[in-house]
Amino acid sequence: MGRIYMDANATTPVIPAVLEAMQPFWNDRFGNASAVHGFGRGARGAIEGSRDQLARLIGARAPEITFTSGGTESDNLALFGVLRPGDHLVVSLIEHDAVLHAASALEREGIAVTRVGCDRNGVVHADTVAEAMRPNTRMVSVMLANNETGAIQPIQAIAEVAHRGNALLHTDAVQACGKIPIDIAELGVDLLSLSAHKMYAPQGVGALWARKGIELAPMLHGGSHERRRRAGTENVPGIVGLGKAAEMAKAWLAEGGPAQLATLRDTFETILRERVGGIAINSEATPRACNTASLRVEGVEAESLVISLDMMGLAISGGSACQSGAIEASHVLRAMGLDDAEARSSVRFSLMRHTTADDIAQAAEIVTAAVQRLRSIA
Ligand code: PLP
Repeated sequence: MGRIYMDANATTPVIPAVLEAMQPFWNDRFGNASAVHGFGRGARGAIEGSRDQLARLIGARAPEITFTSGGTESDNLALFGVLRPGDHLVVSLIEHDAVLHAASALEREGIAVTRVGCDRNGVVHADTVAEAMRPNTRMVSVMLANNETGAIQPIQAIAEVAHRGNALLHTDAVQACGKIPIDIAELGVDLLSLSAHKMYAPQGVGALWARKGIELAPMLHGGSHERRRRAGTENVPGIVGLGKAAEMAKAWLAEGGPAQLATLRDTFETILRERVGGIAINSEATPRACNTASLRVEGVEAESLVISLDMMGLAISGGSACQSGAIEASHVLRAMGLDDAEARSSVRFSLMRHTTADDIAQAAEIVTAAVQRLRSIA
């Protein structure tokens, strides 16, 4: 039996079409995009082509997109690029650490921060955000889909609240991009972060979209790359990969990929509920990203289950992979009101676009056996 990977929210493999698009840019078509000669112009053309592909995925204008080193940098650039001492920032408690820790760092620089909670389903409500608004609120940052539960946030309504208070709305769409259709105009957001390695392109590349007219102060100082928003020679192969991945994602979304994947995910959850018992689904009562299943398994420690499953050939994650090694229970699950034991018995299965019914059947068998064994020991 081969190994099964159900940790797509941690990272995804580079799919063949993306790899193929990137390939020439390592050697044959290499070049510094700032150079005036043909090599440079070739690289520049490739970057701009990718910017167009990405713009088409989210309904943006290409020049409004800045390429970065990933989701973390995009989140940091959105917050640090806009906020100044004396400003007020509203973030939700279910944000990724890339936003939460950036907010804490800004707090030390004289920016006031309000952290708003969510309901039992992991949903941040617009009226909770409205209560947190102040006259000097400059930005609200709420993610589009949560990395641990998949819960999709009511960004449209939250953006309206932010705009009513003359604030900008930043959304971390790292886990949403390529899983749900994104139209920035419909969402009404002002800044949006994404990351290539969650959408079948390489690690270490991402993008920030910022609406025209928003002044973004660069965090990195150096050359005048990316319209002076992000200094540093561009990662041409990575950017080409991200562009191709955006094109592939657009096609997959249009073909009804999310509904099919959600059906597989739901089947998986149903089988586990029937066979394993004592299973609750975090964020079950709210729309979730099609690939994510956050399950509480009664009487089982998440860490032990993750290790057992790994030994049996199934890769999943307990809480957020970005925090693996941390002893504390997931801050997202705690924000949802789960007690320590509930949070510590929650594991995350995140399916890949190409996960099959066969994978699901095998994974369900493995999980059933592992949980039975762990429960018998306990
Ligand atoms: N935001 C969310 C919601 C994420 O899930 C992650 C990564 O797990 C990040 C940001 C960070 O992205 P990157 O790994 O590209 O820095």
